[in-house]
Amino acid sequence: MEITDLHVRFPTPDGTVTAVRGLNYSVPLGRTLAIVGESGSGKSVSSMAVLGLHDPKRTEISGSIKVGGRELVGLPERELMRFRGAGAAMIFQDPQSSLHPFFTIGDQIVESYRAHHSVSRRVARARAADMLDRVGIPNPGRRLDQYPHEFSGGMRQRAMIAMALVNDPKLLIADEPTTALDVTVQAQILDLIADLQRDFGSAVVFITHDLGVVAEIADEVLVMYAGTAVEHGTVKEVLGTPVHPYSWGLLESIPAVSGSSGMLHPIPGSPPSLLAVPSGCAFHPRCEFRDRVPAGRCATDQPEMTGAAHLSRCHLTEPARIFDTEILPRLP
Ligand code: SF4
Ligand code: MG
Repeated sequence: MEITDLHVRFPTPDGTVTAVRGLNYSVPLGRTLAIVGESGSGKSVSSMAVLGLHDPKRTEISGSIKVGGRELVGLPERELMRFRGAGAAMIFQDPQSSLHPFFTIGDQIVESYRAHHSVSRRVARARAADMLDRVGIPNPGRRLDQYPHEFSGGMRQRAMIAMALVNDPKLLIADEPTTALDVTVQAQILDLIADLQRDFGSAVVFITHDLGVVAEIADEVLVMYAGTAVEHGTVKEVLGTPVHPYSWGLLESIPAVSGSSGMLHPIPGSPPSLLAVPSGCAFHPRCEFRDRVPAGRCATDQPEMTGAAHLSRCHLTEPARIFDTEILPRLP
């Protein structure tokens, strides 16, 4: 998948919101990109746009979204629907949003398989049972005939993953898929996604605010702030030697990291409203390093993403300080 200069805007009663502003990234097959940022940073909206899960009449999308070389921006709804499911799939925090309460788990997986494969119900059912087995649900034959409410939260999450992967998508987008689960189940689901990715070879975009999860599952990290990327690099680069002041703030606000000194260091202030993104560097009202940049440029000029492989969007030419690189191994 390759995203170039993506913008997503939609009207609200208070004015037009620009939820994504000039986003660029790519994820090759077999790799996992984690997108992190506070809520309202545009991480979910940008991914919904990739799958066309927005109201086309009310949303304005510009730029380019290519999956397997195919341009999705401007594709008619019918073709987008065909692409979804076969080419790409999404799993959410809440399985209720993708599992229908009135149909059995089996029927739902069978339907989504048959929507893209002309096979008999019997063949599709065998495939569905195989998928439940792959995601670690015991007695798949019996489980197929049960309804979502007969599954535990962790099982529903597994069933949703089975449904997302039944058509062997090239791209899997996981939006906070483990946030609602307890720690043990969360670890199992993360392992499962990593295993399935190895088997299926998909590109995975993993949206989360949990940097411990990032350290566990991702190859690369993209940090988003106010609708755009502010830092992008490998997990080792971004979590080990972050260069953007916002990334420093995110890392310092993890309890497990600051725990040793007994101090939690939250980022002051809150994310900006996307109705009125600050001028210059969108992070400048909250940045404790803005005075190090001459001529008040932080408030007037938007920095570009710069760097060779490890990219950052900041006017500071030298990092204002060296981050405590001890931080990476101490992540949970
Ligand atoms: Fe802080 Fe300025 Fe860098 Fe923005 S550009 S992160 S305000 S130092
Ligand atoms: Mg979200």
